[in-house]
Amino acid sequence: MENTKNLRSWLKAFNLEHPLVIAGPCSAETEEQVLKIAHQLKDSDATAMRAGIWKPRTRPGNFEGVGAIGLKWMQRAKQETGLLLATEVANKNHVDLALEADFDILWIGARSTVSPFIVQEIADALKGTDKIVLVKNPVNPDLSLWLGAVERLQSADIKNLGVIHRGFSTYEKTNFRNNPEWQIAIDLQSRFPDLPLFLDPSHIAGRRDIIFDLCQTALDLNYDGFIIETHNDPDNAWSDAAQQILPKRLKEITEELKIRKEKEESLAFNNKLNTLRTQIDLIDMQLIASMGKRMKIADEIGLLKKENNVAILQAQRWNKILERMNALGKEEHLSEQFIERVFKAIHQESIEHQHNILSKNKH
Ligand code: PEP
Ligand code: MN
Repeated sequence: MENTKNLRSWLKAFNLEHPLVIAGPCSAETEEQVLKIAHQLKDSDATAMRAGIWKPRTRPGNFEGVGAIGLKWMQRAKQETGLLLATEVANKNHVDLALEADFDILWIGARSTVSPFIVQEIADALKGTDKIVLVKNPVNPDLSLWLGAVERLQSADIKNLGVIHRGFSTYEKTNFRNNPEWQIAIDLQSRFPDLPLFLDPSHIAGRRDIIFDLCQTALDLNYDGFIIETHNDPDNAWSDAAQQILPKRLKEITEELKIRKEKEESLAFNNKLNTLRTQIDLIDMQLIASMGKRMKIADEIGLLKKENNVAILQAQRWNKILERMNALGKEEHLSEQFIERVFKAIHQESIEHQHNILSKNKH
């Protein structure tokens, strides 16, 4: 990819000592609400104010945004507070209106990034702009779609680019509204090391209480900034009420976050070490979650065996598992002894679980 050298220069121009913070409501609701939030954000770390003007709702019939009138409320907020303005654009009409209203940051939402047609339409409408354009990850965990959107915008000669990590949809219920899948953002970062990377902890979390932890993880992975939904009356917000925080809380969060500043010469080393360690921690968490899931399935098998009066240990099946894992392990450069030790331990735990199930309520 050409031009990757300059990707970070727009961010550097802000000359901030802390991550770049974009904050504001999920949706602009009334002029009064927009202005109130803007004034409350004025003495926080926020550089820009966000608000959805056109809201992509998963199901029809919900509040779909106030529309173009909201752009005027935002302009007034900028005049009164000096905050930069950010909003989501999802088609050419949105782009034209947001550019006309002189917004500083335009972002492409997760539901748009999945569609190369829409991304191309937006890229064409933005052609050559010097506005900041941020691309959210697609709703599905597909790195190529995310990369593809970045490439389409680069081809449209948009220089002030960045990406926003907002997590990925899963059918299965998890602790998150959108599963972070940090590895996908890390992979994108290694493909475009100079592309500014933002975290949207609000849409990952879907709730308020884990926003701080998500932000700290992101800083440890060298993210450049945040986009955080912030509202003057979060519980009564017209969209995404459960995840919005007060401007006062935003201030506490940005003050408490550890931005690791070390001696100049050790900075690069420490940053790299922190990034790698955080990656290891995230993988360890995934390992535990996967083993937990595996054990739940083993429990179900235990019940099935109990109902059908079948013995726990079935040597043939176990040998097959070991054989398959050894073959896969070889591809990952893992020794046979290691694979055997790990899977014996896992198998042992499964047997113990199943044993407990079979010996429970024996009658
Ligand atoms: C939003 O930022 O309010 C939004 C709709 O986000 P996403 O595109 O990540 O769902
Ligand atoms: Mn939202």
